[in-house]
Amino acid sequence: MIEIKYPDVLLDSLENGHMIVDDAFNVSYWNRWLSINTQIPKEEIIGKSLEKFFPQINYKVLYRKIKTALTIGTPTFYDVNSAKKFVPIERNKVTTSSLRLMQQQVTISPYIACENKVMISIYDISELFEAKLLIKKEAQKVQTLNEKLEADKEVIDKNIMVMKTSTNGIIRDVSSFFCDFFEVTKRELLGKNISMFKLSDTSDVIYRDLWETIRSKIPWSGELQYKTSKGQKKWFLARVVPILNELREIVEFSAVFHDITNEKLLAELYITDPLTKLYNRAHFDETINFIAKNQRKSDVDFILAIVDIDYFKRINDTYGHQVGDDALVCVAKNIKKSLRENDLVARWGGEEFVIMLKNVTLDEAQKIMEKVRSNIEKNIVCHDIKVTASFGLTKYRENEEPKETFKRVDDALYEAKDGGRNRIVVK
Ligand code: GH3
Ligand code: MG
Ligand code: MG
Repeated sequence: MIEIKYPDVLLDSLENGHMIVDDAFNVSYWNRWLSINTQIPKEEIIGKSLEKFFPQINYKVLYRKIKTALTIGTPTFYDVNSAKKFVPIERNKVTTSSLRLMQQQVTISPYIACENKVMISIYDISELFEAKLLIKKEAQKVQTLNEKLEADKEVIDKNIMVMKTSTNGIIRDVSSFFCDFFEVTKRELLGKNISMFKLSDTSDVIYRDLWETIRSKIPWSGELQYKTSKGQKKWFLARVVPILNELREIVEFSAVFHDITNEKLLAELYITDPLTKLYNRAHFDETINFIAKNQRKSDVDFILAIVDIDYFKRINDTYGHQVGDDALVCVAKNIKKSLRENDLVARWGGEEFVIMLKNVTLDEAQKIMEKVRSNIEKNIVCHDIKVTASFGLTKYRENEEPKETFKRVDDALYEAKDGGRNRIVVK
């Protein structure tokens, strides 16, 4: 047998463990790293079996691995169960992990200088192991988040009206709740334009504002009216958010709708006169008080008019209260029809109406009222009684109390009655 001089200097300088053993696990070389880390000096272990020092090693497996390495002449790995380290080495590094023992990768290579021996190399893979643990932990976190997100998504899908559209309003996705509410299937909706829900009689101003806002990458919130597939009109509080990509380009719009139809109906009821469906006195009062309080330039320029039906008692007395009611409704419709969309008309009480004409001169207002007066005179006949009305007109003066305006307009009406009725007096 040839005496082999081990390359001590080389192997001792390595930052890994290296030992040479035979198939009976007898140690013939033990490098410095192993001496330091296992605290077993080479003098103590060389010539003895590994089994005496490391009983936790699975020697059946190790034997098989040694034989394999020797037979096929290439390195094999000894799989280290993380609970049983090959050679237990306490970690002396300060780390945030709870890893107490060094994690090892163990390679068994044929030892070229001696045919029945192998070199067992031990590498510290604790950091790799820690990184793997961390990745696993992060992956678990992501999975938990994903699961939560999925659960949230389901809650949203079933309970909130959500829609996603392309930049030109083509529906890309809708929640189940949206479909249920609008009584359509998702399939029927995908690929259609959101404008399919628009009402033909709503002004375009609101939609223009919506599109201009979101196309300038700003979220829009406001009230919208849409119709369901069955044609039912519904009110929504909507929030539409542009979704941007990393280049800050709009990729799609996301919208959430909340049904406020009942609240809207209630609010409308609160400000509507039940007989004529005009605004009621409370709403007119509130509006004029708001204007007087705020004195905004755009609001204070208005004319106040009061309309009182002439000899109305006669209609009631001759044909009964119901006919009187019908006449009131006719007059209300007639007044409304003769005015512009943004003029405010309310039933002041009994057979009296009040009107707020915005941004017109007193002369123009007089002409408009003349039209209202003559329309009533021409168009409304109650059986054989011709219906006429008298008018008081005045301009609101900046900073005055509404009651002063009302006093002037009442005086004007009184003069119109006194002057023979069916006429307009301006104060
Ligand atoms: P004029 O204004 O020209 O002086 O005469 P008038 O007959 O209209 O006089 P007055 O204002 O005193 O009478 C208004 C009447 O309107 C009294 C009331 O019976 C009737 N009236 C008030 N509210 C209603 C209503 O809701 N329905 C009906 N049918 N009549 C009403
Ligand atoms: Mg009256
Ligand atoms: Mg009257």
